[in-house]
This record gives sequence, structure tokens and C-alpha cells, in this order.
Amino acid sequence: MFKNLRQTMTFDDVLLVPQFSDIESRAEVDIGTKLKDIVLEAPIVSSPMDTVVNEEMAAAVVMNGGLPILHRYNNPQDQLAMFEKARDKVMLATNAPSVVIGAAVGTTPEELARAKMLCFTGVNVLCIDVAHGHHIAVRRMIENLRDSYGSKIHIMAGNIATTEAFTDLSNWGADSVRVGVGGGSICSTRIQTGHGVPTLQSIFDVVNYQESATPAAIIADGGIRTSGDIVKALAAGADAVMLGSMLAGTDETPGEIYFSNGSYYKAYRGMASREAQTAWRGRVSSIEGISSQVRHKGPVSGVFDEIKVGIRSGFSYSGARNIVQLQTKSKFIIQTHAGQVESSTHVRNLA
Ligand code: IMP
Repeated sequence: MFKNLRQTMTFDDVLLVPQFSDIESRAEVDIGTKLKDIVLEAPIVSSPMDTVVNEEMAAAVVMNGGLPILHRYNNPQDQLAMFEKARDKVMLATNAPSVVIGAAVGTTPEELARAKMLCFTGVNVLCIDVAHGHHIAVRRMIENLRDSYGSKIHIMAGNIATTEAFTDLSNWGADSVRVGVGGGSICSTRIQTGHGVPTLQSIFDVVNYQESATPAAIIADGGIRTSGDIVKALAAGADAVMLGSMLAGTDETPGEIYFSNGSYYKAYRGMASREAQTAWRGRVSSIEGISSQVRHKGPVSGVFDEIKVGIRSGFSYSGARNIVQLQTKSKFIIQTHAGQVESSTHVRNLA
């Protein structure tokens, strides 16, 4: 019954081995990526959560080279208004002829009406945003969206954790897939349901998609805490990462800054937390997230700058000028517990 038990790895279990590098400056490194038809200057997608994204955050993510996804925990009119304000803000600032901003939808019949309004207003990236994405309802939604809008829209779907799921979602027609189940910093799915796969392991697994698949782009999602984790996810095969807690707590996120125990904070909560469910649908079913807080971090551009510098540096340690080179050249090793301790800052205060 317990055959096929295997050991799995996540971010702290592994390290990338430094490789010969002829990169003389981090400026030589291109951290841009492609999610099928979407070209991004930075491999960052912001998570569709109500303490992460609003019009200000969406505009800031675009201006910092990433892809924002507007959350769906509101009525469609409010989501549309968020899209229009974010788009107009970016266009006024940058004079860009077009702006790529995604929006999340669910899988119920009413969500088809939401999708219709979004597409009509110019949204061309729809994210089917479901906790267990390897599901018949996701297949139906992908097929419905494809029937209605053909290749005019980019369909992102998820979340999934296995090779089989990635193969299926790719074959059902997803252009990009959110990979990671149970790893989010505010997630209690593994505690509540016993299910999940460490996020980095899921990336290692889905890159071995079955031959039948025309593979979707891979977005690593959940549990990413540092630029080092981002580099590991990309090296393992992700095309981009989705961030929640790393972007939470910035000036642009929804919510007030408050002072507590000597520090400033902003709220950050899982969308399946009691608090979020009560706020968006007035009732609670399976609670699979928590409501928490993160330190106030100032403008999100500062966070993006740190992340980008970290990623560039990471690429250069692997001797890689771009994501393709990183994925070809990088070598992972597994580290022991002592190695993990050594990998974190660990100065001793000797008397
Ligand atoms: P973080 O970047 O580690 O904070 O994780 C963010 C990710 O957690 C999101 O992109 C979602 O995939 C996931 N997530 C958001 N809310 C919940 C929840 O309530 N329960 C479980 N996972 C969640």
C-alpha cells in the first residue's frame, strides 16, 4: 500500500552550485521571460489576493516589468473598475500603447459572465483561480473560454502539483499553469486536508510533463520568500514565479499601515482564511488559510529592485546570461540540516 513513497525537496533542501562565469557585470544578465505570448521584463507575477492587489499595485507591477493578476473576490464591476484604473495609470505614466494586466475568474456559470465583461473591456489574460486546479470544473472553464474567445486570450490556470495535472491542463488548453499546492505562507491546506507537494518538488516534477502535452508556461506559486528561492524555482524550470507575501506590506497594497509592538505592519491573509471568506462571500466553508500581517516595506519598487538585483546575481553565479542558460547550466545539490544552518546567517556572539 505504501509503495512508491519517495522523498521530496523544497527550497531550503537544495542549493545551486556556483559555475564558471564570464559575466563581468550584472547588467549583462537578462532576467526577462516569456509566458507563451506574454513577454515580461521580470519573471514576477503578483498573486490575485485581496491584500496584495488593487489598481495601484497592478500598475506598479506592470511598471516594474511584471504581470499583475487582479483578484476576483469582489463583484465583476469592481474588478473591472480596478482594471480600468490600473490600465489608465500605466498608460498615462508610460505612454504605452497597450498594457498587460490579468484578472482572476472562478469556475461557476456566473464566472463566465465575469469573464465576458473582462474580455469586452480589454482584459486578455484570464486566470482560472482555483485551489485544486486538477479538476473537471477547470477543464470545463478552459474549454468554455477557448470556445468563446479562441486564441485572443491567454488562459492561466491552477493550482496544480503533479506531472499528470500539468500535462492535463496543458492539453485542456491552458497557456500557463500555476504550480504549487499547499506551500503558500498563509496556507493551511496541508494541515486541513493532508494534501500538497513541496513547491520546488512540483517544479522538478512538472518539467517532466508527458510527451502528449504541448506544455504550458510554468509559474511557481507558494512559499517563495527570497530572491534565492526565485532563482532556484527558475533554475528548476519555472518560467516565472507568483508572489504573495514578498509583495504584501508595501505601500501600494490595499489596507492600512498600523503600529504594533514597535513596528509598522499591514495585513496579509489567505483567500481561504475565515476573515477573507467572511468578507467576500459572507460565509465560511473549508478554512484553508490564515489571516496574518507582514512588516510595512515601503514602495513596492524597492522590493522589486532588491528582487531583481538578487536574481541577476543568482544568474551570474551559475554563469547564465538568461533564463534558458540558467536552466541548462545550473546544478542542484541537496543539503543536510547542518548545511541549511550554515546557509542561513548564523554569526555567534562570543563573549
Ligand atoms: P506566498 O507567496 O507564500 O505568500 O503564497 C501566495 C500563494 O498562496 C498564492 O499565490 C496562492 O496560490 C496561495 N494562497 C492564497 N490564499 C490561500 C489560502 O487561503 N490557502 C491556501 N493557499 C492560498
